Amino acid sequence: MRTPARSKRLGWIFGLVVLVPGVLLAVIAVRSIDREEAYIEKQLEGTLLAEVVYLVSLVETELGRIETELADSAPIDPLSDPETSLSQWRKASALVSSTFLLSPEFQILWPRTSDHLDEGELSFLSLNSDFLSNRLEVPVFEDIAMAFKDQIVVAQAEQEKKIAGVERQLAKSQFQMDEELQERIYEQASEEGLQAQSRVLLPSAPGTEKQEQPPPSVFISRDLRLEEITKDRDQGLISRFVENGLALLFWKRLADGHLVGCVISDTELRERLIALIPELYTAVRILTLVDEQGQPLVAPQEREARDYRRPFVARELSAVLPLWEAAAYLTDPGAVSARAGRAARILWALISILFVSILVGGILVLRAVRTEVVLARQKTSFVANVSHELKTPLTSIRMFAEMLKTGRQPSEGKRREYLSLMVSESERLTRLINNVLDFSRMEQGLKRYAMERVDLAALCRELVENQRPRYEQNGFDLELRVDACADGAVFVEGDPESLKQSLLNLLSNAEKYSGQMKSIEVRLRREESWVCIDVMDRGRGVPAAQARQIFQEFYRGEDSLTAKVRGSGLGLSITRSILRDHGGDVLYLPREGGGSIFRIQLPVAGQR
Ligand code: ADP
Repeated sequence: MRTPARSKRLGWIFGLVVLVPGVLLAVIAVRSIDREEAYIEKQLEGTLLAEVVYLVSLVETELGRIETELADSAPIDPLSDPETSLSQWRKASALVSSTFLLSPEFQILWPRTSDHLDEGELSFLSLNSDFLSNRLEVPVFEDIAMAFKDQIVVAQAEQEKKIAGVERQLAKSQFQMDEELQERIYEQASEEGLQAQSRVLLPSAPGTEKQEQPPPSVFISRDLRLEEITKDRDQGLISRFVENGLALLFWKRLADGHLVGCVISDTELRERLIALIPELYTAVRILTLVDEQGQPLVAPQEREARDYRRPFVARELSAVLPLWEAAAYLTDPGAVSARAGRAARILWALISILFVSILVGGILVLRAVRTEVVLARQKTSFVANVSHELKTPLTSIRMFAEMLKTGRQPSEGKRREYLSLMVSESERLTRLINNVLDFSRMEQGLKRYAMERVDLAALCRELVENQRPRYEQNGFDLELRVDACADGAVFVEGDPESLKQSLLNLLSNAEKYSGQMKSIEVRLRREESWVCIDVMDRGRGVPAAQARQIFQEFYRGEDSLTAKVRGSGLGLSITRSILRDHGGDVLYLPREGGGSIFRIQLPVAGQR
């Protein structure tokens, strides 16, 4: 028996070819499920960062515009009548809050300390007089990438460096991308006494979630006096951290060297910046500007308070507005994991389907292969069986024929007996050959029936009567009962030869598998539109587990009795094919009191 070894090998092949790649695929899929959330976050980060960077560029442009606007509207000659010209300036531009006028030597000419000063002017002076009169150093901010651009953009060709803006952009982007470089430059800055404050916001986008402290600002400061700040330029903006927050100052050098300037109105500045935000609130994100206190300049109405210090992504705005940032927040932070969860569920379902299909497919393939292997084995033993089946009757026929030829038989009776044995053996041969031929015809779909109206009761009677002498000679008790209709005839539409062959197969089986209980009963009866022929014996019966298999081609029962009985394993399968081709069937039923019932069912002619 090579089947188990073969099945085992097939199992291995199946495992290698299907299961291993399947498992690998599943592992890859499961790992990608884990990364799904990070992947979605990364995608979001990219989109939101683009929006934030765009907002930063809008703010930078706006700050430039504010500076130009103030420079254009500033009084040209305020010296003759500072009060009128400065208050006119204030009235003309909403940006102008407190104003000042300095001599080239940094003497405060306006607000005039000798005058009666209002509350605004008093607080302005108390906060700024030291600085404006060049006595106090204040931190002046600068983008670290600009301050150290020569160290950052080293490899760049001299030619390219000269193209306006290229070097600055390069320095900025290289600094942003390279963490090692950042560390080195920050270190260098602190060695040179340049301070980098901590940012106010701590972005939470992927890769940054482990940080607990906000990173350092990209704007470093050095302490300078007003004279140093205004040395090489004619106008500018200065940011000053005063007690109630960040104040933005504008200054301009007049033709005669005097400096005129103002504090920029905080309200107006904020309003102008708020107007730059393209869309504050969408289903995905909130985009806003945040001041140095970590307070949004504008925020949507929300049911739950939001921690505006923890944006998803953020970028600092400008050296003029240190610690201010453009920031994007996820409208619903749970949505990302919900989306990832949904994707994960779909993936899991797909993996399960994949596995179930592999498993079911594998089982089906293995079963099919096993059936094939069993069939191949049965075919081999079939050839041996048939050869044996052919040989035995031929040998007996030959033996009896030779005996008759010698003419040495004692009696007429013996001679008759030999002749009838020869007839029954040749009948057996014919049946076997018919079965084999039919089988091959059926396999090729070439089996033809000569259909006619047949009286099945008459056919049974004739067949049983023909067989009776042989059966009785072999010690069998063969009984036929016909419970048909009144006239004893039951007609079916069929090929008489094939029907006889079916019945003979069943009778021959009953004989073969009866063992010592040599009693066979054939019973024909009509049940409504069906006619049934039961062929019953008192033999060993068919074990329940084999009841279906016995009708398969080449199948032979595996017990010791069958092993001793000759057979091809084709009888029942051919019988079933013939009867099914006639619109009927053959069934096996266990017989009460022991033995088998093989029941032929055929539709009564003209009723179907
Ligand atoms: P064969 O008789 O040549 O083996 P069949 O197709 O006629 O082939 O029968 C298939 C199997 O069914 C037999 O091997 C036997 O095990 C079982 N069988 C058939 N008829 C009977 C019966 N009357 N009683 C018990 N077993 C039977």
